[in-house]
Amino acid sequence: MKKVVVIGLLVIGFVVTALLISKAGRRDSLHEQTRFLMGTYCTIQAVGPEEDVKIAVRKAFGRMQEIDDRFNPLNPGSPIYAFNEKNAPIRDRDILEVVELARQVSEECAGAFDITVYPLGELWGFYPGDSSGLPAGESGVDPWGEAHLPEKKEIDDCLARVGYKNLVFEDGEIRKLNPDVHIDFGAIAKGYAIDEASKILRSEGITSALIDAGGDIYAIGEIEGEGWGIGLRNPRGEGVIGVVQASDLAVVTSGDYEKFFEIDGIRYCHIIDPRTGYPSRSLISVSVIGPDAVLADAWATALFVMGPEEGMKRVEQMPDMETVMVTPDERILYSSGLKENLEVIGQ
Ligand code: AMP
Ligand code: MG
Repeated sequence: MKKVVVIGLLVIGFVVTALLISKAGRRDSLHEQTRFLMGTYCTIQAVGPEEDVKIAVRKAFGRMQEIDDRFNPLNPGSPIYAFNEKNAPIRDRDILEVVELARQVSEECAGAFDITVYPLGELWGFYPGDSSGLPAGESGVDPWGEAHLPEKKEIDDCLARVGYKNLVFEDGEIRKLNPDVHIDFGAIAKGYAIDEASKILRSEGITSALIDAGGDIYAIGEIEGEGWGIGLRNPRGEGVIGVVQASDLAVVTSGDYEKFFEIDGIRYCHIIDPRTGYPSRSLISVSVIGPDAVLADAWATALFVMGPEEGMKRVEQMPDMETVMVTPDERILYSSGLKENLEVIGQ
């Protein structure tokens, strides 16, 4: 684990400005661009000469757009749509890579993470059928119009279509044992996209950048001689619960505040336990800090479902991964790799 410092500090945000002179004598400065991709606002900040950064950022966003198009189950042109709706095998190399990673995580967390959870998300009404690609509220579709509490029988029927073991990897393609199995990359695609964007930025010579896909973040290098300060959002209020300083690290968060509805004071969120069919409620937020955003993304969702005891035990066995969890009674739990580097300010 590279330099990671958690500062237990309530800070709303901070502004970083950098003005440096590059070796070539051109002025390096911090540039920022935002695009709506993968259902969220994505921002890339990068340091370098303006023209070089513009080109690098355009290429990085281009790669993210490509991933968004191909991994989106609501896009009728995507291999995922064809797999889900027409039982067509998947041969796309990027998707094969991510499905294989997803399968490994599913094995390692005893099925708490499972990309075949899609039918349950549909049943609970977390997929509004809005494939406009526009931000929620701007498309004219009510994003939560369908959310409801399903009957037990409906959940059981759905569970019969869920299970990563229904996916068969053979001869360079993925097929399914049961045609009713549907997959969804909502828990892992953003991580993959920011990893890919970071590779492009690096290959374009960028050594300091921050890629933020709706709060899932990858930090390249340092800014002003320090790791990038990344605020961990307070899941139940304004501001942040802490700041992680990250350099060449991903910080990815899963929370119950992203998509949810409430009935009789109980919050039902979009992260579903594939083993029970019900939204997970043992944590309200999980951040994972590690070198690969794709794994951090998958594990943030997995740990959210595993819960604090089992989840923390698992993280402690993984040398490259740290976590910050928030329990339903709003206690903040840190893994030991973070505690060693804990710097508390203002408490
Ligand atoms: P994240 O915000 O990364 O935790 O991803 C949440 C999204 O992943 C949901 O909106 C669903 O599309 C999908 N999802 C929900 N529950 C699971 C699960 N247990 N395993 C894998 N994907 C899930
Ligand atoms: Mg995730």
